[in-house]
Amino acid sequence: MRKITADILFPMNQSPINNGVLVLNDAGAIEAILPNADGLMEVEVLEGYLAPGFINSHCHIELSHLHNSLPEQTGIVDFILGVQTKRNSFSEQDILAAALKADAQMQAEGIVAVGDISNNLSSIEIKKQSPIFYHTFFEVLGFDPARAEKIIMDALQMQAAAKLSHSSIVPHAPYSVSTKLMQVIAALANNQTISIHNQESAAENIFMQNASGDFTRLYEKFNIDISHFEAGFDSSLASYIQSFQSQKMGLVHNTYLSPADMELAKQSGNEIYYVICANANLFIENKLPDISFLQAAGANICLGTDSLASNHSLSMLAEINTIRAAYPQIPLAELLQWATLNGAAFLGMGDQLGAFKIGSKPGINLMNKDLKSLRVIAAASTQKNYI
Ligand SMILES: [Zn+2]
Repeated sequence: MRKITADILFPMNQSPINNGVLVLNDAGAIEAILPNADGLMEVEVLEGYLAPGFINSHCHIELSHLHNSLPEQTGIVDFILGVQTKRNSFSEQDILAAALKADAQMQAEGIVAVGDISNNLSSIEIKKQSPIFYHTFFEVLGFDPARAEKIIMDALQMQAAAKLSHSSIVPHAPYSVSTKLMQVIAALANNQTISIHNQESAAENIFMQNASGDFTRLYEKFNIDISHFEAGFDSSLASYIQSFQSQKMGLVHNTYLSPADMELAKQSGNEIYYVICANANLFIENKLPDISFLQAAGANICLGTDSLASNHSLSMLAEINTIRAAYPQIPLAELLQWATLNGAAFLGMGDQLGAFKIGSKPGINLMNKDLKSLRVIAAASTQKNYI
């Protein structure tokens, strides 16, 4: 048995408790949460804040080799051009070594689950071997509607070859996936959890509104025929959200999301999670989403690091600190909820991770009071999920 206390205990499924005590049984599972240590023996007294392991709701571990390879603040079009040009110019050995290092970094940063994008199978074995729980999003791209069926066949084949029990097939972004492909994805059976890059740039909305702007440069460079595309949508989100019904959807970035978009998402009947990747937004566009608006509107917010191609580290604490610097009025308990409870719900792991729930092993992080560093006090353990 272990009894641990610190300045504040953040159970996440109940209010923070000053000097609260976390009791673990001999198997390391949470046995009780006590309001104080009165009368208890052998209590580990720690300085700082205790919270469950972090959930990184958006990452691309297979892009880790692009760390420090791309210039900052170029805007999304040049960023995408840079990734596509450089991602395959490394040896497989380098790609795997970087992904393995990234996985280890996330463990050290107290991350216990990741919603991770895969465009290929390169990182699958690393994810299978890791103590981190991964939900893999097999991401597809294809703006030519005639190719939609073929793209899905290939993605289903990749998903079958990966032999993961927690994965789904998802669209990359509204500007890279035709309406036809969006609808084919939405119609897939057993494909409940969707992730999509949403409104990461102003150019994205402009393109979906009138087929002009910076994105036309991208299609020209990649020789993609857009003559079939009929613009005229109110926004990028408006172009696809109604293709999906009653699905769990993680909208990633939302830097240029409007209140009208949010209302549309709400009315779509989908279970919407807004995934914020603050450091990646600063890296690529030097602009943050209107997080205070999302918060005030009661949005279900999750946090992600995005990949090392657009971030300096894979640290949820760094994401929290960036948001705190821009929005100091948001209470820490709420930011932690985005980094734990909400992410676990998004990834379908709410019964095992994201809160100090009795009987669970969600991982325990001790953050210093200045939130500059953390220590993993106990590892997480989930029902292993690979087939
Ligand atoms: Zn991403």
